Amino acid sequence: MSFSDSVLICDEVAPVLNKILEENGLKISYEPEITPDQIKEKIGQFNIVIVRSRTKLTKELIEKADNCKIIARVGVGLDNIDQDAAKAKNIRVINAVEGAMTAVAELVLGLMLSLARQIPRGDREIRNGNWLKKELKGTELKGKYLGIVGCGNIGRRLGRLAKGLNMNIIGFDVIPIDEEFSKDVGLMKADLNTLLQSSDYISLHVPLLDSTKHMINAEKLSLMKNTAKIINTSRGGVIDEDALYEALKNGKLGGAALDVFENEPATDSKLATLDNVILTPHIGAQTKEAQSLAANVIAEKIIQILRGVI
Ligand code: NAD
Repeated sequence: MSFSDSVLICDEVAPVLNKILEENGLKISYEPEITPDQIKEKIGQFNIVIVRSRTKLTKELIEKADNCKIIARVGVGLDNIDQDAAKAKNIRVINAVEGAMTAVAELVLGLMLSLARQIPRGDREIRNGNWLKKELKGTELKGKYLGIVGCGNIGRRLGRLAKGLNMNIIGFDVIPIDEEFSKDVGLMKADLNTLLQSSDYISLHVPLLDSTKHMINAEKLSLMKNTAKIINTSRGGVIDEDALYEALKNGKLGGAALDVFENEPATDSKLATLDNVILTPHIGAQTKEAQSLAANVIAEKIIQILRGVI
């Protein structure tokens, strides 16, 4: 079966996506640098619109998408797509939840190890001519308590990896946590406050919703051990960055590693002035494997929707 639908790809995606869609007869307009004004002008011509993170499909743009059947995000979160506007126009919105699990979970492991051993600081100081051997006495992950907030796809993958390092895993979620996962990692289920009070490392894996906006605020930070380290690879707004800055600066918290920020690009974040902080530029899903997997998943989902299978 071949299709003749037209597709607008607004961001850079792995080439496999274009390849699969073209093989199935779809006509691709690949415009990874397209501006919002240009999208507004032409979105009405397309049956399928594909984005990653750069493009924000706002209500204003979606209202112009008169011939659109599917909006696809080659990634996990859907916060750059106005889903209400899409629903109002009867447009199906799809994403690729499977793509980023390993990439993000492995980044968290890297960040935990970097915090535990101050690897980025050691590197920075050597480049500045300083040999901080004595000062950089670290701790081991083995035997430490890792609190996972949000035990969905990424949280569970992290739990399994961390179990392999002999960490103890505590989990909190608003929905029942997968039983097989719980059994495999010996999960200690806890409410959020208990998790925050008990963990040496806290890793956030929740979506950004009204209910999760600033869920880690000054009050929650005050519950954590002053040696605890928090890692956020979910969405920036989940942590109140001003409160985090104060807690870190005043020795109320051991350290933080952030891949996501309230305002991105976060090139002037005051958190960058603190030694006990590690910052990465939203690279959670930026692996070759994750990008290619997400592109494959989206291509297959689009073909299946067009075939009426899903
Ligand atoms: P998921 O939907 O599989 O899991 C999210 C979990 O959070 C669910 O189990 C849900 O019940 C839980 N949750 C929702 N509200 C909660 C609350 N108030 N308290 C506790 N748990 C709550 O999603 P996922 O694929 O694991 O992704 C998790 C996060 O990672 C998302 O925010 C996503 O946008 C983000 N992400 C970031 C990157 C990156 O580049 N850094 C890449 C991919 C995904």
